Amino acid sequence: MAKPSDRSGEVPARLRNEAVIALGQRKLLQRVVPGLMHAFIFWGFIVLLPTIVMAMIAIADRGETIPWLGRQGWFALIADVFCVLVLAGVVTAFLIRKIQRPARFEGSHMGEADLILVLIAGIVATLLLWHASLIALGLNEWGASWSPVSNALSNLFGGGSGTHDAERVLVWAHIAIVLSFLAYLPNSKHLHIATAVVNVYFGRTRARGRLEPLRFDEEGPEEDMRLGSGTVTDMTWKQVVDTYSCTECGRCQDVCPAWATGKALSPKLLIMGLRDQLFAEGPQALGAAEFEPSPLVPNAVTDEVVWDCVTCGACVRECPVSIEHIDHIVDLRRHLVMNEARFPSEAEPMLRDVERSSNPWGKAQSDRAAWAEGLGVRVLEPGDPAPDVLYWVGCAASFDERARTSAESTAKLLTAAGIDFAILGPREACTGDPARRMGNEYVFQSFAEQNVETLNESGAKKIVTSCPHCFNTLANEYPDFGGSYEVVHHSELLAELVREGRISPSRGDRRITYHDSCYLARHNDVLAEPRELVAAVGQPVEMARTGKRTFCCGAGGAHMWMEERGRPINEERVREAAETGAETLAVACPYCTIMLDDGVRTSGRDLRVADVATLLAESVEPPEE
Ligand code: SF4
Ligand code: SF4
Repeated sequence: MAKPSDRSGEVPARLRNEAVIALGQRKLLQRVVPGLMHAFIFWGFIVLLPTIVMAMIAIADRGETIPWLGRQGWFALIADVFCVLVLAGVVTAFLIRKIQRPARFEGSHMGEADLILVLIAGIVATLLLWHASLIALGLNEWGASWSPVSNALSNLFGGGSGTHDAERVLVWAHIAIVLSFLAYLPNSKHLHIATAVVNVYFGRTRARGRLEPLRFDEEGPEEDMRLGSGTVTDMTWKQVVDTYSCTECGRCQDVCPAWATGKALSPKLLIMGLRDQLFAEGPQALGAAEFEPSPLVPNAVTDEVVWDCVTCGACVRECPVSIEHIDHIVDLRRHLVMNEARFPSEAEPMLRDVERSSNPWGKAQSDRAAWAEGLGVRVLEPGDPAPDVLYWVGCAASFDERARTSAESTAKLLTAAGIDFAILGPREACTGDPARRMGNEYVFQSFAEQNVETLNESGAKKIVTSCPHCFNTLANEYPDFGGSYEVVHHSELLAELVREGRISPSRGDRRITYHDSCYLARHNDVLAEPRELVAAVGQPVEMARTGKRTFCCGAGGAHMWMEERGRPINEERVREAAETGAETLAVACPYCTIMLDDGVRTSGRDLRVADVATLLAESVEPPEE
């Protein structure tokens, strides 16, 4: 019933993910205690699987077992050890749920989880006691000396006819609980036991910031074409398996900036809402062609939830079973925007300005290079020879007063270092990123095609961008439209120039804390270079949430142009920056510059927000008075 999603290929990377994320439990082990708790139970289940078969054989004939493996002392030892580890895991899980009660479980099905934990404890306890009764009956001498726990427990049994009966009761109880567990599984959130490993295998293998393109005809979408996710029948098979795989662990909710600042969106509740609607309507949709499923918005999730997302990717990174929340949210937006023209009214001017003026600021394209006046920057005309590096300035750094400083600094530094670079000036248009994250895929694709044509004509091979959103679009999304270039962020190029000694900054005493942009650090792994620049000009001090675990500035997902409900995300981040005691809040993104500078002003903090390029330029040449 589900729509296609191409997840073929990349087999080595998929197998690596399976080994590291599923078998190795890497994401879960980021939090040591709950991670070990889950790992013990998960690994225990894998190791103990053969013991279930052994018990089934023993029901028919207690003297029989699996050939070879069933009579290995070392396997008896491993089974003993893992029974204890699983029980320790179950006890820890109860302590976490009943005593610690982390906020991330808010909204999860707690009763269901308790029942599953009781069933797991029952399976393992009956297994241990059954092994012990066999030892007491002298039926597995080979295992007795190897299994200290079962051996010790065998003293509970006298060895007479009562033990014979107890052995029968225990083996039957063991299998009855295992079968009850299997029967309950598809009706509970523990369905993830069956689907999570599949979901991890088919998860994204690269370019985490890339969105899957929609395919249109030459003339654009047809009138009655269904776009994005309107009902359960519009979801792709990966999105369906995503919903089956959610463990309701709440790790995504815990790191979501929207949820943390009191908004309606919880990525966990979003996935659970989609799953509930899928379970409610899927069988009818499968059974009757004329069945009309109900809209996902506002039935599974509300409009508010869909528009609260800043596409920061924190949820996707944290999810232990490779659920791709952003794809769900953008597909819901695509349907609302392109099929129903339904989106927050305050975002309308942005979409209109992008379409009419080729930038979300609504400024004249002829002014795009105004920031570069007097700096001697070459503006590339059609037919000009390609520069070594094409500087893609982006709309924010071209038109916003505060963000322009970064473009000016970058241009001065590249000139000082003797780099042959040029800009496109009025021929550079919006990459289409804000329209795409808003759900208007058609507008995005028009800009993608236009920009790719300009870039291919320019002959540029290497592009440097100031904006992580432009960086992500040019590097990860334009290849889908015929544009493949070497794309670097300005912090990467500037750090290289400092390393080579082509820029020589002087190091000051001021404390600087660096804010990682989501689209640079989390979506594109650029972490070290901006920090190199900070360390070259001042004394770095890190915030609590840093690197790939950064906290959004609040601008992503086109939120720069939307009203914010709840507490402002930018003020939350500024508070965290101020807690470091730094005087300067360094950024490497024009949107972060604007949002965090606003946050400093509205929260009355004493912090200066500046791009790493600006800080570097100042350390080379002291600022003019
Ligand atoms: S992408 Fe960010 S804002 Fe959106 S649901 Fe995930 S964590 Fe929340
Ligand atoms: S979506 Fe992933 S991280 Fe969030 S609750 Fe479900 S399994 Fe946990």
